[in-house]
Amino acid sequence: MKSNSMIIVFLLVIIQLSCKTNAITGRNQLKLVSDTELQNMAVTEYRQFLSKEKVLNSNTDKNAMIVKNIGIRISTAIIKYYNERNLSAELIGYKWEYNLVDSKQVNAWCMPGGKIVVYTGLLPITKNEDALAVVIGHEIAHALAKHGNERMSQSMLQQFGNLALSVAVNNKPKETRDAFLNAYGVGSSLGFILPHSRQQELEADKFGLRFAALAGYNIREAIPLWNRMKTASGNNGSTEFLNTHPAEDRRITELNKIMDETIRNYFRPNMN
Ligand SMILES: [Zn+2]
Repeated sequence: MKSNSMIIVFLLVIIQLSCKTNAITGRNQLKLVSDTELQNMAVTEYRQFLSKEKVLNSNTDKNAMIVKNIGIRISTAIIKYYNERNLSAELIGYKWEYNLVDSKQVNAWCMPGGKIVVYTGLLPITKNEDALAVVIGHEIAHALAKHGNERMSQSMLQQFGNLALSVAVNNKPKETRDAFLNAYGVGSSLGFILPHSRQQELEADKFGLRFAALAGYNIREAIPLWNRMKTASGNNGSTEFLNTHPAEDRRITELNKIMDETIRNYFRPNMN
């Protein structure tokens, strides 16, 4: 009992020492692993993922070209936005990549360092470039708000105590890798965009909308998009999915609340 309470005190101290304020959300979050370590892990995992999937060539495939163009427009807008706010240090190590893979999964994600994947299964739901830009903006916002780091830190703490990532990788390679892939929603067993916590989802919606607006997209498409997502998830027939996504109506309500203000303050027409 005594040693248990000492462990709890020890963990609480670690948690306190490991909390960092996020540059864009301003929220304090648990961060046990460094961004550099996660970016390095992302490079390896991204390559490995792409080597196993059918990646569509952006020179020959129209949709892959669209994904790449949206990625370039949004990342360019983000770099500018960060520069204007003296936050460019936050983007050090970012080497943006945008790939479309041929897969029925309704999914998209962004690993730290700007490694983005969109699955073709998402396209019948996004239907148009503006809605796809909203999803890509949302996934990039998860990465920039460091939600993956937060999730990775939480599962590291749960599984290994406060083990350094490099030690965990050596001692428990499979568990560490699984924690990483889970944290970034890669290979979700549900075959559907894996939700983060409600707070993380609201942050990703807010900043994702802002980034897509900065890149000149019609972000009003977000509302019909999430309605289509809701219908599609209903048709998916998976009760497990519905249990993890109870909040699409709430998401739409929140998006409607910030829509006009986001367009007024952030929309910049695309000049290209
Ligand atoms: Zn999300």
